[in-house]
Amino acid sequence: MSDLTHAAWSDALENGELLGQTCGGCDATLGTPKAACPHCGSRDLETVELPTSGTVYTETTINVPPIGVDQRGYQVAVVQLGDARVMGRLVDQDVEIGSRVRLAGYDEDDDGYITPHFEAE
Ligand SMILES: [Zn+2]
Repeated sequence: MSDLTHAAWSDALENGELLGQTCGGCDATLGTPKAACPHCGSRDLETVELPTSGTVYTETTINVPPIGVDQRGYQVAVVQLGDARVMGRLVDQDVEIGSRVRLAGYDEDDDGYITPHFEAE
């Protein structure tokens, strides 16, 4: 059973680290803390450190930014980091699918939830 909480995941991100979980049931790697594997339902999850650079798996532009984000054409991506996929905001506008990106920091919303953001590598 994994001890990775959302608070621990957020603390790591504030320190420039990305944590994930590997599943003992099916070998999937998860990019955000889960109580059970979304692929096979196993609770045998182990906390692992993820690489902080990777490749844009998919991206999309949201033209109405969330509150607190002062950027038009807010671009979010799913980034492939090793075996995990992590969603975050892209700070560079010219990033496309397949681009190399790295962890550049994080955004914090009004509720204190933090999410990673990535820049072109
Ligand atoms: Zn699994």
